[in-house]
Amino acid sequence: MAVTVQTPTCIYCGKHSILEITDEEFAALKTGALITDALPDRDADFRETVMTGIHPECWDIIMKESTYNDEDDIDDVEEVSDDFSPRSSI
Ligand SMILES: [Zn+2]
Repeated sequence: MAVTVQTPTCIYCGKHSILEITDEEFAALKTGALITDALPDRDADFRETVMTGIHPECWDIIMKESTYNDEDDIDDVEEVSDDFSPRSSI
């Protein structure tokens, strides 16, 4: 037997998912067991989606975007300080 559960809303795409888990997994979740204990046979992506609602593919995009943003921030800081030092000495 399987139980369908609705996940929380994904913070990236704003959609929730309907996932199918077994009766045993559902019962374990209801007792408040840790997700890794309640769904021991599922992969980490599946457990993450059940817990947070964030889809694995959305996680990939979020991680890539945050990496790019970090690099941009560092570049901006370096450019600004390079521009400022010669001007302030004149
Ligand atoms: Zn999503």
